[in-house]
Amino acid sequence: MHFITDEDINIWSMEIPDNVLPLPGTIKVHQMFTEEKGVLKYRDLSCFCRRGFCSCMDPKEYRPLKPVDKNQALMNVNQIL
Ligand SMILES: [Zn+2]
Repeated sequence: MHFITDEDINIWSMEIPDNVLPLPGTIKVHQMFTEEKGVLKYRDLSCFCRRGFCSCMDPKEYRPLKPVDKNQALMNVNQIL
């Protein structure tokens, strides 16, 4: 058994970026997997034919972080300089 303290939760919370987009219908999701950094696939029913890394039951895509807008990033750099 592992006891998770409030302090543990506070430490992990600080590592989560502020701009994570919520996944609608999280409560229905039963399987989530990824083969690409920043891109998760999920479905309401689990499949284990290839340990989850399959396209059975048409998994949906979830990108928890918005793609960085290169123009916006450049503008911010210019504002700093
Ligand atoms: Zn499958």
